[in-house]
Amino acid sequence: MSLSEITARITATAQAKGRDPADITLIAVSKVQPAARVEAVLQDGHRIFGENRVQEAQGRWPEFQSRFDGIDLHLIGPLQTNKARQAVEMFSAIHTLDRPKLAKRFADLAQERGTSPELFIQVNTGEEPQKAGCLPADADAFIADARSMDLPLKGLMCIPPVEEEPALHFALLAKIAARNGLTGLSMGMSADFETAIGQGATHIRVGSAIFGERAYD
Ligand SMILES: *Cc1c(COP(=O)(O)O)cnc(C)c1O
Repeated sequence: MSLSEITARITATAQAKGRDPADITLIAVSKVQPAARVEAVLQDGHRIFGENRVQEAQGRWPEFQSRFDGIDLHLIGPLQTNKARQAVEMFSAIHTLDRPKLAKRFADLAQERGTSPELFIQVNTGEEPQKAGCLPADADAFIADARSMDLPLKGLMCIPPVEEEPALHFALLAKIAARNGLTGLSMGMSADFETAIGQGATHIRVGSAIFGERAYD
């Protein structure tokens, strides 16, 4: 599917749900995709991209940034505390804040640099042991904790379990955000971004539907 088809679907879904399409940010998830496919999407005028590894992003984006203005990179994969500095230097938003130690590190870096990326707290809504994110039961306390450190908290992020109905997870995330006064909701991928828009997503992370299937080797 092309970028313009995705954009058209976002607009149609938003309008059907009585939402303003301008309130939905499309993050084109370029991880693992060949440079030529990423370049084609840049040529189409898109500027907001998601990567899930700091190192991979560092390897590919400086060159694009020297040729295209206004590139805006979001980190959507788990982050090791020892890579936090590289991450805050490269990304305008980080969607995977999930533990106090990382929050403290971001706070120290914000203090030192005088600026911080926008942050989303990842919530492990499916309580899957292998998945990153704070548990739903710990979310309120962790949000308060991050706020007490003066971090620029934009909202919450989730990745629903593959085998489950995503709408239930999106609804849970929206509920936790609402009761904590957070407006950002990073949820919805290629297979379920329309469902996510219906549940209030403000940031959708779409990879394969834009770029084609990822070829891991
Ligand atoms: C890879 C990835 C996506 C994009 O997945 P698609 O199914 O290709 O759209 C979205 N969010 C996260 C966190 C990812 O790792």
